Amino acid sequence: MNELLDISVVIPVYNEEDNLGPLMEELETALAQTGKTFEVICVNDSSTDASLTTLKTLRGRRAWLRIIDHSVNSGESAGEATGFQFARGKIVITMDADLQMDPADIPAFLEALKPGVDAVCGIRAKRQDDFVRRMSTKIANAYRNWITGDSISDAGCTYRAIRREALVEVPVFNGMHRFLPTMLRYQGYRVEEIFINHRPRTRGVSKYGVGNRLWRGIKDCLGMRWYRSRAVKGSRSREVL
Ligand code: UDP
Ligand code: MG
Repeated sequence: MNELLDISVVIPVYNEEDNLGPLMEELETALAQTGKTFEVICVNDSSTDASLTTLKTLRGRRAWLRIIDHSVNSGESAGEATGFQFARGKIVITMDADLQMDPADIPAFLEALKPGVDAVCGIRAKRQDDFVRRMSTKIANAYRNWITGDSISDAGCTYRAIRREALVEVPVFNGMHRFLPTMLRYQGYRVEEIFINHRPRTRGVSKYGVGNRLWRGIKDCLGMRWYRSRAVKGSRSREVL
């Protein structure tokens, strides 16, 4: 495995032109303060707005910014999976591009990722979304925890820090991003949770409603029951030199 850096931040991007500038500023401040080596990988998911050109401009004076482009819109899970492929960091941090997640929480993620912990997931303590979205998430979480036998507090929160070696055996499918912590646990990895700051979306629109999440979510939960019995136990492989 080519681990050249300490941290890779992986961000799926679809039509987020107005969020990218402020996001890179905030990330730069937060990441520089960690004293670690880092890269930020933005996976442009075939945006139809100016996200790609905006990213290219932003890269101008930021050597740490990498842009990967999907030629077909493939969804958030695919964006994360692409980012994992390109990541060179020992720790992969995933987050949305919409500024709802606060880069200032990065040090808290790193602190929680203690030796023996393989992944840390965010819990949106005071979620800044409307009532319908908050309620549907509550119901979905209860249902998924019941079906999958897992207990992730906020599976819809994609702000996470994961050791890259733990991502090797994760299967990729549409919806993977909601089950990543559960699949890691099935594979024997240790997943912890921390409370994070959550901010309202002020620019761009959410790509998901209640409708396009509900049926897929139910289907995916059933898939997880199967996967639970068939998951490869994380091999934690290491080259012997
Ligand atoms: N996204 C993507 N491809 C898509 C839909 C969304 O890359 O087809 C990105 C989007 O730009 C954002 C993240 O995935 O960075 C999560 O999407 P969004 O914030 O709209 O979802 P929500 O947080 O509202 O559930
Ligand atoms: Mg979001």
